Amino acid sequence: MTRSERQRQTAGTVRTHCPYCAFQCGLLVTPTAGGSVAIAGDTEFPVNAGALCVKGYTAGETLTHAERLTEPLARNAEGVLAPVGWDEAFARIAAGFRLAQRKYGREAVGVFGGGSLTNEKVYLLGKFARVVLRTPHIDYNGRFCMSSAAAAGLRGFGLDRGLPFPVSDIAGADAILLVGANVTETMPPIMQYFDAQRRAGGQLIVVDPRRTSTAEQATMHLRLVPGTDAVLAHGLLHVLIHERLIDEAYIRERTEGFEAVRAHAASYWPERVERLTGVPQRDIVAAARTLGLAGNALVLTARGPEQQSQGVANVLSFINLALAMGRVGRPYNGYGCLTGQGNGQGGREHGQKADQLPGYRRLDDAAAREEMARLWGISPEDLPGPGRSAYELLDTLGRDRGVRGLLVMGSNPVVSAPNATHIEERLASLDFLAVCDFFLSETARLADVVLPSAQWAEEDGTMTNLEGRVLRRRQVLAPPKGVRTDLEIINGLARALGSPRGFPASARAAFLELRQATAGAPADYSGITPARIDRERGVFWPCGPDATGGTPRLFADRFPTPNGRARFHRVNTFGAAEKPDAEYPFYLTTGRVLAQYQSGTQTRRVRRLVAAGVAQAEMHPRAAKRAGFVNGNEITIETRRGRASFRLKTTAAIREDTIFVPFHWPDHQSANRLTNDALDPISRMPEFKVCAARVAVSAGGADSR
Ligand code: SF4
Repeated sequence: MTRSERQRQTAGTVRTHCPYCAFQCGLLVTPTAGGSVAIAGDTEFPVNAGALCVKGYTAGETLTHAERLTEPLARNAEGVLAPVGWDEAFARIAAGFRLAQRKYGREAVGVFGGGSLTNEKVYLLGKFARVVLRTPHIDYNGRFCMSSAAAAGLRGFGLDRGLPFPVSDIAGADAILLVGANVTETMPPIMQYFDAQRRAGGQLIVVDPRRTSTAEQATMHLRLVPGTDAVLAHGLLHVLIHERLIDEAYIRERTEGFEAVRAHAASYWPERVERLTGVPQRDIVAAARTLGLAGNALVLTARGPEQQSQGVANVLSFINLALAMGRVGRPYNGYGCLTGQGNGQGGREHGQKADQLPGYRRLDDAAAREEMARLWGISPEDLPGPGRSAYELLDTLGRDRGVRGLLVMGSNPVVSAPNATHIEERLASLDFLAVCDFFLSETARLADVVLPSAQWAEEDGTMTNLEGRVLRRRQVLAPPKGVRTDLEIINGLARALGSPRGFPASARAAFLELRQATAGAPADYSGITPARIDRERGVFWPCGPDATGGTPRLFADRFPTPNGRARFHRVNTFGAAEKPDAEYPFYLTTGRVLAQYQSGTQTRRVRRLVAAGVAQAEMHPRAAKRAGFVNGNEITIETRRGRASFRLKTTAAIREDTIFVPFHWPDHQSANRLTNDALDPISRMPEFKVCAARVAVSAGGADSR
């Protein structure tokens, strides 16, 4: 019996993890008679301790959804996507890629991966791009999510692991500065730690332009002007220095570069910072004192400050704060980034980034290239160098010297990329596009060939959560007849392109090779085995063969920099690339809502999540009134890149100068048709979080111009 002929087999209850966010809640999944699954929270998994959000509870619905793809599709003579067999689909992709490379050169083919792919897929996708396609052009949607915090972590600490401590440390912090994170909606089970922290008398300071449901829980809310995060951080540091609340001994012994930062912070006195950020100076002073006087203090950032064209500078400014207070490396203290996507951590470690080799090695490191080339059985000279970052890769599709043939796996850039209309046009201009997905996503609709892939409960693999804890995803059901796992797809593509060896279709074999590939690297997985993951409820990297229990806490004695010290960075702040003006008078900011996830390919198909609400734009009642709108109007928002329509929700929780829209919906409700593609100069992160907008038209209402 071939795997594609198998029925959906049922086993007993299986311990696995949620398919969505980086909290990776432990699930108990039991197959049901109808071919789907029943889901409960795993009370023995220490991270979520049984708690789930509505997305986790309903994750089974996509497994049996009527729109599920169950056979490969390819464009026929009429230009319509029609079913074909797997052999033909693979042959069509191989021919499309070969033709593009024959006409335009090897670099004319690219790969676009995703931050929800398992570690094994990430590893083999990077190897496939570099060894089979021999192209430098592979990047992924995690560039839109994690890259600014990752780049700042590497610069500040010498290593990027989202949380360098267990998430349970949150409960033990006396004060927390939470910047640009609406965790009550994006990962609700994490609130058990924040709740415990506040029950114990801890202070929670939330920085956000909106009074979000997370800010509602805070002891203090700093409602800053979008794009002024770094200025606020400089202001907080100014007060800490002025009031002698910094740790001079720690700075002297464990860091370098502070004096330049001290001098820079001197010009960010509270009155000036109030003028620039809109945060009252008394709140700036109070927040700094709360942090500086706390026995234990944490600084946490998320996409708010990170998804900006100065995202790296923003994060470095908050790292400066944590270092100046002498917090980093002590339990219940320090700096951490709350990773977003399901495998946002592992997805950035194992080679699908344009500049990276497995284990968080750099592609321009000669020793790493040699090591990896040896493992892959090629010459180091044949290993391509760094390629284009995600947006730059997409922006050059179909152009002269751009990529002409693209493979997309686990991503939906038509909805998730900034300046989305432009990116849709670039994708449509390709000579050849192949997409692997479970549904005919907005990106798959443009493809020449679509390959139906298995979902989370139908495959094995490993994921790495926001703490750097490596977990096992386990198969509960066999995929439906006609569907293959992504590992089987990579294996089939490699064969069709003449590389029959080196691309194992089993997750176990792929993980074994990944362990070898990361031995001795910064993100060392070599000592992590499936049995240890089971026994220890996940293993924290780095974990070499001798490291029992992995490394839950980093930076206790030294930083992984050449001299063992963390580095302060003096950063200049220039604000958002596009600020409101007479033509576009509002700040526009984007984010997630509780019942949807990322581009919505899965969650927009789950009945209970669809019923939870439509795409709504939030606007202050006074701003709405001035523009002639009332709550519930259908409004159209315009920016210099496009327009999109939303149901208006008026709320005093948002600044009067700011509009918020969620980014989960496509087509005329696509927030990313509005967002700015200005990139951070270091991380190449687009500025999703700030641009200038106007409210253009409304049924029965005036416009804001
Ligand atoms: Fe947990 Fe995140 Fe899944 Fe919600 S979406 S159940 S918070 S892993």
